[in-house]
Amino acid sequence: MSTTKKIVILGGGESGIGAALLAKSKGFEVFVSDKNPLSPKYEQVLTDENILYEEGEHTEDIILSAAEIIKSPGIPSNADIVLKAKKAKIPIISEIEFAARYTKAKIIAITGSNGKTTTTLLTYHLLKSAGLKVGLGGNVGESWAKQLVKDEYDYWVLEVSSFQLDDCYEFAPDVAIILNITPDHLDRYENNFQNYVDAKFKIIQNIKKEQVFIYQKDNPAIAQEMKKRVIGGQHFPISLSEVLDNGAYLKGQFLDFYDKKQKTSFSIQTNEIHLKGKHNMVNVMASIQVCLRMSVPETALKEYFQSFYGVEHRLEEVETIEGVRFINDSKATNVDSVYYALDSFEDQVIWIAGGIDKGNDYTKIKDLVIKKVKALVCLGKNNTKLVDFFRDCVHIIYQTEDIRDATEQAFELSKKGEVVLLSPACASFDLFANYEERGKEFKKSVQKIHKISAMKAKENKEK
Ligand code: ADP
Repeated sequence: MSTTKKIVILGGGESGIGAALLAKSKGFEVFVSDKNPLSPKYEQVLTDENILYEEGEHTEDIILSAAEIIKSPGIPSNADIVLKAKKAKIPIISEIEFAARYTKAKIIAITGSNGKTTTTLLTYHLLKSAGLKVGLGGNVGESWAKQLVKDEYDYWVLEVSSFQLDDCYEFAPDVAIILNITPDHLDRYENNFQNYVDAKFKIIQNIKKEQVFIYQKDNPAIAQEMKKRVIGGQHFPISLSEVLDNGAYLKGQFLDFYDKKQKTSFSIQTNEIHLKGKHNMVNVMASIQVCLRMSVPETALKEYFQSFYGVEHRLEEVETIEGVRFINDSKATNVDSVYYALDSFEDQVIWIAGGIDKGNDYTKIKDLVIKKVKALVCLGKNNTKLVDFFRDCVHIIYQTEDIRDATEQAFELSKKGEVVLLSPACASFDLFANYEERGKEFKKSVQKIHKISAMKAKENKEK
């Protein structure tokens, strides 16, 4: 009989395959089980590495004989097989929890309802520009566990979702960041917001004296939670509205940083940064705070910002056609991100929204929509909720299931100085494979309009 500890991995996507590879490299007996078919790419990896797996089913006998289960973030904690494993008292952990056991590098972990990817990529960019040996993992790019098979960095910047945190117990990042907490994914949290808040706060559950906690003080859910808990470590709050004697805040055109204990300060002008919008200032302050904690030379920080232009599908400037700006914010799949998108424009907006609603409450953006939105173009298979909510706030509402039509209509409805904004507040699966496809299709439609407009301009010139 084998005495090797057996690890079962539930879910054979990027996270699960990465966990399998790391577990195999550490000498465990590994079995991967996915209820759905695996992608050929991942099947090949498992075959090449001699890792046993099954797809299209969960064989209970094998799974329930595991010493430990690594659950992929996409599998809900009330899935049948997970409940059975819990009943059998098998420890269930996430890829992040497992992977963290195998590195001595410093970990910077970033969570929040919105802004994770932007902040993770920006932090990575700044640290890398400063010459640190830094890797990037978590929900962006390659699985962290997979990269830890060769642990070659001194620092890791990780984007961490609540689903990864759900199954974390010992995970103790050196720097933990909570950007904001607003309702999202409540279907996975028994429709109880507090459960979701608790999941996010698991990022600091093991925080020690020397570890750093960066959080947005203005966010109501975070502020309320901070009152309830006693949290160790060194705190560096962020505020968009309040001057702080320790932490970072936005004041006019400046982002100011104070470290009360070290008696140091740093300041940067917002126009030295390509990212726009107040929400992005939270992300920027979090990233800079990490750099200050890691002793990145302050003078160089400003230079590193010059080469960071934001992330695709997040308030991405696509084109300006006949004075109309087209913005791709396809990643805005909840109401809060749309709030910040609308808030970041001074001009009138033709707003393209719609798709699969994750239980949206549009009340939060109603006033802003009244103020900023000239026309609403609904892009979805079922637009009833959007139309019903906004019919009294927006004079022009157009409905379509075709993104090209949506973009053309939005352009028709716009005039010079206005903005066409794709910021859907909804998931994309009714019409697209994912938000990336939605964003790319939007950009293609914009480029078509651009071409036609340029041709017309040329013709007029030649006349
Ligand atoms: P996440 O990885 O958490 O989904 P992203 O950086 O991909 O976050 O951004 C998702 C959406 O949220 C985009 O529409 C973006 O413009 C918006 N957003 C980014 N940062 C914030 C923030 N700090 N607060 C609110 N919305 C944000």
